[in-house]
Amino acid sequence: MKTILVTGGAGFIGSNFVHHLLGTTDATVVNLDLLTYAGNRESLEGLPSERHVFVEGDICDGPLVARLLDEHRPDAIVHFAAESHVDRSIDEPGAFIRTNVTGTQTLLDAALAYWQGGADHFRFVHVSTDEVYGTLAPEEPAFTETHRYAPNSPYAASKAAADHLARAWHRTYGLPVMITNCSNNYGPFQFPEKLIPLMLINALEGEKLPVYGDGQQRRDWLFVTDHCRAVERVLEAGEPGRVYNIGGNAEMANLDVVHLLCDLLDERVPVERPRRELIEYVTDRPGHDRRYAIDATRIRDELGWEPSVDFTEGLARTVDWYLSNREWWQRIRDGRYRSERLGVSRIG
Ligand code: NAD
Repeated sequence: MKTILVTGGAGFIGSNFVHHLLGTTDATVVNLDLLTYAGNRESLEGLPSERHVFVEGDICDGPLVARLLDEHRPDAIVHFAAESHVDRSIDEPGAFIRTNVTGTQTLLDAALAYWQGGADHFRFVHVSTDEVYGTLAPEEPAFTETHRYAPNSPYAASKAAADHLARAWHRTYGLPVMITNCSNNYGPFQFPEKLIPLMLINALEGEKLPVYGDGQQRRDWLFVTDHCRAVERVLEAGEPGRVYNIGGNAEMANLDVVHLLCDLLDERVPVERPRRELIEYVTDRPGHDRRYAIDATRIRDELGWEPSVDFTEGLARTVDWYLSNREWWQRIRDGRYRSERLGVSRIG
């Protein structure tokens, strides 16, 4: 029986990972999450309480992290906690430096002391993004793990800094850290500020669909449970010090994603005029990267991981999830998810 300390497990990918791990293994999860605006305990309903310990707390709180390691003796840390929204990083970069950089350093320090104190089998997975590599020209090959770092947004720069710290804690101190760099995720429990849930909910409510610039920014898309499977593979079998790119082989222009979403919704909830007519082009985000693409050959060849959900199927599943879980996103939209928190216990 394994115990895993998951950070950011009330966020989008973290909560999917906790559901995945507790649903498919007999592991116990200690879930450390600050419950910022992006954290939502309602995404964790239905988990087996005897194998899920939720701790509301900050990854920047070194004594708290040390105490959790000491008390629960986890076999691994899987580190998702972050400030994750690029637009917010442009308005308020300080929060990104604090959580993504200082928070990661705090976790690495506490993990190092714990590992050096005799937790020999311990492993640390640092979850990161393809945005650290910057933008690709149309003809350039997809990012491999040796692509140069060239982050362009404050969010990407803070994640790049955290990746470098994770690498250094391995190289300098020997801490068994693996780093993953994944493309854009989508699926259940994604906060409705990100492209897919934002457009989906606006389209459903008959509101405008604000598309940045010409909508021709290209991203690779991965269904969130495929990302969870990949992180689990790296946790089990990744080589310490190694970086693994994770992607869905699904490169698409943002505008095409919005078109597909509108069409899927029109099929399911017919309206008089096609929802594509709600699209409104707005001034592009400053520093907006034109293209990301991931070469995930390494994780496929070395760890046997491949995406299992193709983009159209994953998007249809996502639309169906948001249609059947209106209460989850309506409570976010009107703020009730924060004002009526369920049984939260503050530690630290
Ligand atoms: P999210 O914003 O949905 O969730 C982040 C979680 O971290 C929230 O629950 C929040 O409360 C928590 N958190 C924030 N600051 C904290 C702190 N100081 N201490 C403890 N908890 C804190 O983010 P996400 O989309 O689930 O992303 C998770 C991770 O995966 C991030 O590290 C992100 O960089 C990475 N990633 C995301 C994507 C994507 O498409 N969403 C793609 C690749 C990598």
